[in-house]
Amino acid sequence: MTLMVKEVHAKTILSHSKIYPWVINPYTGCQHGCSYCYARFMKRVTGHREPWGGFVDVKINAPDLLRVEIKKKKRGRVWVSGVCDPYQPLEAQYRLTRQCLEILVQHEWPVIIQTRSPLVLRDMDIFRDARDFEVGLSVTTADDSIRKLFEPDAPPIPDRIQALEELHNAGIRTYAMIAPVLPGAEGLAGLLKGKIDYVLIDRMNYHYADRVYRKYGLEDTLSDEYFYRVRKEFDSL
Ligand code: SF4
Repeated sequence: MTLMVKEVHAKTILSHSKIYPWVINPYTGCQHGCSYCYARFMKRVTGHREPWGGFVDVKINAPDLLRVEIKKKKRGRVWVSGVCDPYQPLEAQYRLTRQCLEILVQHEWPVIIQTRSPLVLRDMDIFRDARDFEVGLSVTTADDSIRKLFEPDAPPIPDRIQALEELHNAGIRTYAMIAPVLPGAEGLAGLLKGKIDYVLIDRMNYHYADRVYRKYGLEDTLSDEYFYRVRKEFDSL
């Protein structure tokens, strides 16, 4: 897929969120372009016509905005990020997530990171110095061939689990986000054991990826029975 990258100046960066008090999205759009992604509503909000995964607006003034806004807003946990992956490939070049995290740590704001990318390991030095920091990787299946069907442009599952292990071994609080629970998630609990402090697990609550399920005859894994079977494996974690 062709990627349209545009550098933009955002109006604000530290925004209210319904999940955590604050959220920072250094990018609009996401190169990972997961088939089930709920954040594709950003296409409508921003007027982009490219397919989801085919555009990224890079908020090049994000650190400058944050330096100003953090002094004016009430301290609270910051979610990085809500509608993009803060460690999508462009972050290797732009380092906006890294700069924002450095500012948050300087001001001792609590942070929760959510990504699918082992690029997060680049910033271990920041996490080690931080007082209240959690790093989560989304791990949606144990089967990388299933990952390729639903998230072909996101990093491989074994790399994400390895990243969790490295972070956890470095003494950083880690979690796995299993949302949605894709097919082939049986056995994930065993793969994650000893690498995370907790798990967040949720089912597919939207239908963007229905065509992928239909194409590969995987509809049975949308059932309650499948979800609760996978979730039960985590009871002993
Ligand atoms: S990594 Fe997250 S934000 Fe990016 S496309 Fe996938 S689900 Fe959406």
